[in-house]
Amino acid sequence: MYILLMGPPGAGKGTQAERLIEKYGIPQISTGDMFRAAVKEETPLGLEAKKYMDKGQLVPDAVTIGIVRERLSKDDCSKGFILDGFPRTTAQAVSLDAILKDLNIRLNGVINISVPNEELIRRTTGRLICRKCGATYHTVSKPPKQEGVCDKCGGELYQRDDDKEETVTKRLEVYAAQTKPLIDYYKNTNVYVEVDGMTGIDAVFNTIVSSLEKGK
Ligand code: ADP
Ligand code: AMP
Repeated sequence: MYILLMGPPGAGKGTQAERLIEKYGIPQISTGDMFRAAVKEETPLGLEAKKYMDKGQLVPDAVTIGIVRERLSKDDCSKGFILDGFPRTTAQAVSLDAILKDLNIRLNGVINISVPNEELIRRTTGRLICRKCGATYHTVSKPPKQEGVCDKCGGELYQRDDDKEETVTKRLEVYAAQTKPLIDYYKNTNVYVEVDGMTGIDAVFNTIVSSLEKGK
């Protein structure tokens, strides 16, 4: 199953990817996670990406497309993957088409999760992530059983630097200007599905799965 998850920051892409990994046994390819790992390891890629991430801006296309091209050609992607947070610009979408063509892959679903801005701010500013396994929580809508501790692996939960309100506002502006236009890029394909992201985590998941299964 080859899945592309789209939507603004905080829409629930990572949360749904966690569930889709379990269901289909395919890897999640999150450019945000890849950049955060590189920042943590202080690699040249991480140092470059951090300059943009801290300001809520997009990492340049050439850098981002390069890491996705390399990642998608790995063996574990041959049976399927969940793209999360890529593409985010028209240039990235055009490059993705070329990469998929080279790999002889057709997407089964382009899922666009839509959520109003006010809720996106609530979700991002309350988001908590496990340092160890990357699981996502929310202080109000999905709290861990024990404060600050991951239910799944016992790891420490933290708030992302770019989830502070002023950076979130910038990220939402960048989304509206550079990523939202991609809806038109995919809208007329027969795999595009718009999902209401306001319906709760389980309901969103069920809608995504039924649309993917329908298209099989
Ligand atoms: P994205 O990957 O799109 O940036 P996340 O999956 O990290 O978004 O979700 C952002 C925050 O919103 C997290 O704290 C998550 O627990 C919460 N969340 C995700 N989906 C829902 C939902 N359907 N209803 C309520 N809260 C949600
Ligand atoms: P995310 O985890 O998807 O919210 O991404 C966090 C940050 O990583 C973004 O605000 C960007 O700075 C950077 N980033 C992630 N994916 C991309 C992408 N496809 N293109 C450019 N920058 C990206």
